[in-house]
Formats: sequence, C-alpha cells, structure tokens
Amino acid sequence: MLTATKTKIAPGRLLVNNQWVDSPKRFDTINPATGEVLTQVAEASIEDVDRAVSAARHAFEDRSGPWRKMSASERGRLIWKLSDLVEKNIDELAELETLDNGKPIFESRYVDMPMVADVLRYYAGLATKIHGETVNTLESAFTYTLREPVGVVGLIVPWNFPLLLASWKLGPALACGNTIVFKPAEQTPLTALRFGELAIEAGLPAGVLNIVTGGASTGRAIVQHPGIDKIAFTGSTAVGKEIMRSAADTLKRVTLELGGKSPNIVFADSDLDGAIKGAINGIFYGKGEVCNAGSRLFVEEKVRDEFTDKLVARAKKMQPADPLDPKTRMGAIVSQEQMQTVLGYIDAGKKEGAKLIAGGNRVSLDGSKGFFIEPTIFGDVKNDMKIAQEEIFGPVLSVLSFDDVEQVVEQANRNPYGLAAAVWTKDVKKAHQVSRLLKAGTVWINTYGLMDAALPFGGYKASGFGRELGAHAIEHYTEVKTVWMNMV
Ligand code: NAD
Repeated sequence: MLTATKTKIAPGRLLVNNQWVDSPKRFDTINPATGEVLTQVAEASIEDVDRAVSAARHAFEDRSGPWRKMSASERGRLIWKLSDLVEKNIDELAELETLDNGKPIFESRYVDMPMVADVLRYYAGLATKIHGETVNTLESAFTYTLREPVGVVGLIVPWNFPLLLASWKLGPALACGNTIVFKPAEQTPLTALRFGELAIEAGLPAGVLNIVTGGASTGRAIVQHPGIDKIAFTGSTAVGKEIMRSAADTLKRVTLELGGKSPNIVFADSDLDGAIKGAINGIFYGKGEVCNAGSRLFVEEKVRDEFTDKLVARAKKMQPADPLDPKTRMGAIVSQEQMQTVLGYIDAGKKEGAKLIAGGNRVSLDGSKGFFIEPTIFGDVKNDMKIAQEEIFGPVLSVLSFDDVEQVVEQANRNPYGLAAAVWTKDVKKAHQVSRLLKAGTVWINTYGLMDAALPFGGYKASGFGRELGAHAIEHYTEVKTVWMNMV
C-alpha cells in the first residue's frame, strides 16, 4: 500500500521580512508517488519579488540594523543554530522532501538532510575565517584588501535535491554576510518553506532570508531585478544560458551549476564487483535525477559481457516502490512531465538501435497514478547517439565499450558537459593519468558520487562555472576591496 499523503505546511505563503504573506495566486504541489495534490503554494509575482528584494536590501544596507552590526562569530553561531534545528526536525524535513520529490525516505533521511546540517555547520565555522590581507607595496603606503559581502543574492534551485542544493548556497551566502531572496523549484517548494520557519526560530533578523515560491516567471523576476547583486543558480543548461544573458543587463555576478552526462569508466583490472555497485549507485541513486549521475558507463571490451550481465541482474532487483517505505531504493520520478521526458529518451534509444537490456517501462504501483519507471539499461550504445549525448535526468543507463585509454578518454570528453567522471582500476598510475585527462569538475577513483561539505563541486564546459562547497564558495559571495593609504 502506498502511504497516504500529508503535509503540515500552510498553503499559499511567501516569506518576506520574517512575515508570512498570503498570496492570491497559487499552484498545486503534487506527490509524484500518487499523483495527488499535497497542498497549494504561492506563485510570487513581480511585485512580490520586488517586496522581497526591498526587505533584503534594507536588511543589508541598514548600518544600525542587526545584520550589519552582527560579528562574524555571531553569524556563525546563528548558522550553527539553524543546523541544530534542521537536525531536531530531521524526520519531518525528510518526509516532506520525499512527499514532494518522490525520492526514497532512506535517501532524504540519511543522506540529504544530514548533509544539509553538515553543510550549514561547515559554513558556520567558516564565517570567522573570511578575511582580506595586507600587501606590502611601497614604503610610503599602507595597502590592504577587505573581503566584503556582495549584497543581495538571488538563489534559484532545482527539484532534485531541493533543500540540500539550497544549503550549498544559503551556507556561504549567510556566512559572508549577504542577504537573500531564495526561490525553490516549483515542483518541490515544501522543505524551503519549512526551512523559512526554522530560520525565524533560529533568530535570523528580518529581511535576511526571504523565500518566494513560483516557477520560471518568478525566477525571471529575480534575475531581472536591479536590486539583486548576484545570482547563484543550479538547474538546466538551457535556463543557465538564459540567466547569463539576462543578468548581463544589470551586470549581476552569476554562478551556474548546470547539467551533466558523466562518464563512469571501468577498466578490466578493477574490482569488478565494486565497480558494479558503483555503476548501479551512480545511475539509479536518486532515480537518476542527479546532475552528476554516471549515465554513460564505459566498460573495457574484454569484461563487457560479464560486467553487463551482472549489472542487469542487479538492476532488475531494484524495482520502484513506495518512497515512504524505509526499504525502498527506487522512488517516483518527480513529475508527470519529467516521466514523459524520460520515456521519450527510452523510445529514442530504441529507435537509434541501442539494445534495451533492462527495464524501459512505466510502472503502476497499487493502481495509483504515481510516476514510476523501471531501472533501465541500454547496451550497444554508440557515443554519438542521443541517449549518450543528452542529459536524460532519469534512471536510464547507456553502456558503451572501449579498448584502450586513448579511446575512452577521447569518447568520455566528446560530450558538451563536464560535471563529473569516475575511473575504476587497480592501476594507481593509470587512475591518476586518466583523472588528469578527463574534462570534469570532479573525478572519483574506485567510488562514485561521494561528496563532502569541504570539497568544491562544479562543472567544466556546459556544466557551468563557479565552485560550490568548501572554502572556494566564499569567492562567489564576496567582493574584494583594495584600500590604499598614503603614509607620506
Ligand atoms: P530548470 O533549469 O528547469 O529549473 C531550475 C530552477 O530554475 C527552478 O527553480 C525553476 O523554476 C527556475 N527557472 C526556470 N526557468 C527560469 C528562468 N527563465 N529564469 C530564472 N529561473 C528559472 O532545471 P530543473 O529541471 O528544475 O533541474 C534539473 C536540472 O538541474 C538538470 O539539468 C540538472 O543537471 C541540473 N542540476 C545541476 C546540479 C549541479 O550542481 N551542477 C545539481 C542539480 C541539478
């Protein structure tokens, strides 16, 4: 039986200046496991965004206000408190994320939410380590730099890791002393709204964090608003390009975390059982709706058949099930639209002549209207096929084969994206040589998909630019000011 849908989030509200504001314009947010409406969410208008920006601007500019007067240490303490509150409410947040996104509760409860808390703690600690430097230039001068917050930052995130990807931006934005207008994805706004309640409970001053829900038009209003200084965006490459063009008009700073089509490369000399687990995890974790999914699996020709047979046997055991069941490892696709997109790619794969060796179908659970797709694997894929070149963003794996290092590196890099990659081999020299040759922001060796709050993450090529996480993120949330004092 699919578990009944429920949510305690009050419908149709925006968070502006620490006040919950009702909005007349609303849209449904759907539980993808049942197709049922969870609740109604506000669709923020241009005027709503303007009010949120004014509140954020005021909180940032007011020199006698609480945010500007707060020391870095106090900011760190507030972020730490937020992290504590995330942990205190972890079960509720995890359940909300699963209801809204369809991901297994196992993932929301034991991966997403713990990492949200961890990322916030990392930046709580970093708040007191952000500083300029003194630079020796002339005997007659005292020259130094200050590192100042950028100002009002617009955060726009997608639906696949709703609160987790938001935390990657909220943590450094707050640690550096910025104020925020945050828009979650229209498919998954619920944890953001609950987080807003926790931010008030933690004592974040009015105007520091404003939350506007809505879709593309709300996002555009944020990007075009002259009162916003920087956009931190995670989402599709197509929207990333539009944001970059539009941000040029007001010369906003922009960081873009975009799509991926990451190569996962298995050499014959690797621990094949470990590599099989890594390949399954790399594509089917998060239903394959993961920017760094290992969606192109390159297997060395001499072990291809053995490897693929074992892979298929494992994939067939991973059938979709109720996302709220703790044993479930394959949840529901986030929306009907995304399910149709994924099924369209499966059709394209068949038409292009790839061999469907596992899955390929929509699944109905208990006759519900949920959006479930079987774990799907295509063999005999050529690198120029659509299913090997385009991001599917679903549980669909393309298996390709190769004979040597030169060939696999050339194929792995012959793709517009460059977010992540993995190499499986026991040959240490080969592992590091291939890692250097791959055009990707992250390369895993003998594992897949691991992340840490301290390690930078971001893309090469069409996967965007700028790095999130780690101390690198501070670069994107601060300006550097040079101060030159004449000592003569
Ligand atoms: P999307 O680009 O459609 O939407 C992302 C966000 O942008 C949403 O909040 C949406 O409402 C908003 N938006 C849409 N159009 C906009 C516009 N014109 N102006 C401003 N905002 C707009 O992406 P999606 O389908 O929600 O997410 C999937 C994509 O995100 C995939 O391509 C995936 O690879 C990428 N992603 C990347 C990373 C990364 O770290 N590189 C992480 C997760 C997801």
